[in-house]
Amino acid sequence: MNRQLSDNCVDFINDDDISKLIASASEDEVRVREIIAKSMEKQPLTVEETAVLLAADSDELVEELFDAARELKKKVYGNRIVIFAPLYIGNKCINDCTYCAFRRSMRSTVRKTLNDDELFGQVAALEDAGHKRLILVFGEHPDYTPEYIADTVKQVYKVKSGKGEIRRVNINAAPMDSEGFKIVKDSGIGTYQIFQETYHHDTYNVVHPAQTHKGDYLYRLDGLTRAYEAGCDDVGIGALFGLYDWRFEVLGLVTHSWQLFNRFGCGPHTISFPRIRPAHGVELNDEYAVSDRDFKRLVAILRLAVPYTGMILTARETPEIRREVMEFGVSQIDAGTRVELAGYTNKDKQDERKEQFQIGDLRSLDEIMLDLIQHDYMPSFCTSCYRQGRTGEQFMEFAVPGFIQNFCTPNAIFTMAEYLEDYASDETKSAGMVLLQGEIAKLPQDKRIVVESQLKKIVNDGLRDIYM
Ligand code: SF4
Repeated sequence: MNRQLSDNCVDFINDDDISKLIASASEDEVRVREIIAKSMEKQPLTVEETAVLLAADSDELVEELFDAARELKKKVYGNRIVIFAPLYIGNKCINDCTYCAFRRSMRSTVRKTLNDDELFGQVAALEDAGHKRLILVFGEHPDYTPEYIADTVKQVYKVKSGKGEIRRVNINAAPMDSEGFKIVKDSGIGTYQIFQETYHHDTYNVVHPAQTHKGDYLYRLDGLTRAYEAGCDDVGIGALFGLYDWRFEVLGLVTHSWQLFNRFGCGPHTISFPRIRPAHGVELNDEYAVSDRDFKRLVAILRLAVPYTGMILTARETPEIRREVMEFGVSQIDAGTRVELAGYTNKDKQDERKEQFQIGDLRSLDEIMLDLIQHDYMPSFCTSCYRQGRTGEQFMEFAVPGFIQNFCTPNAIFTMAEYLEDYASDETKSAGMVLLQGEIAKLPQDKRIVVESQLKKIVNDGLRDIYM
């Protein structure tokens, strides 16, 4: 299957090197503490340094990793958690990934592609709940062309329900050639996500049959390089934990981050680390199942390794695990999630034949907002950077001292105030207003005056979509 690759495309994942790094790394307290000190300076870690952290397994050292990740998270992201929702557009697929309920050989899966009215209905339902940021998810199929995906994005932006609107649309879809990425980028997307699923070549070839499009390891690995070259400068990487050794996947993700950084001066915008979940018609092999303790370690270590990259924790996990893991560096979560096709308006019992996998957190957006607020997190629906053109390299917020105070915190306050005014339950609203006052009180006086006057326009004058 001869498909376009980027110029000078190389397979930058060397399985032997990564396996040797894992096998040769032994617990070294002194080294671990030196490396933690480096990441506390917000310096990204090398693959070798990350391997040293992966070898830290004693409770004492693991606690030190957790403490460091917590502190770095606060230092870089404050207490903000960005909120989004996934929207599955179509689950037709020509691939046959062994871990997926949407694989083509799964005859009992209910295939569906939202028509225009259904798309409108789903987006309106998400807006009526208070969402402002969506990720659209597509199987890989000739029907889901770049033009089709671009048109779907434009339709989503047109939906205005009540005071609602979607202000940022991200995409999770198959890799394309450069022309395809340009078409999708020009429709106004934010991040383009492509998960390698597993960076381990042999495992990749087992779970992705060779004769399928997704069976082409290098075409997929090169996908985001082609996307970046085509203008998609906010890209998202990810691995499906549970297919192979979690330590190998962590080093694969860090290697991929460095590849993008070295080539484009900017690492991935986000990293996702979903754990494999039960799915309709899928027999899970738990040989590489990731325990909760190791899951927390991988989140903390990724946080320390790539301080400048957003980390996405999805509703695959239970509320309890999400609460525990969030403090180790997560910056984005989905909320009020339904992965079933047309699931946001379906009041009936969930139908697993319409879901790619089963999710662990079925709480509503408002329940999750209240939970976050009660744990002193500030939920944010901010979309400002992408709309102000602060993307890719520009987004290196950490290079600009005070970036958080000047942009992120005020924007989080404004978008949260909108949510509390327009969508929150009474309980969430009263708890949220208390948190907002606390956040405003922490701002330097000059910033506080500006934020308070803007907030009055939102609360008293009903202005919406104020951002910096
Ligand atoms: S994981 Fe994606 S590409 Fe693979 S079968 Fe499922 S929907 Fe298709």
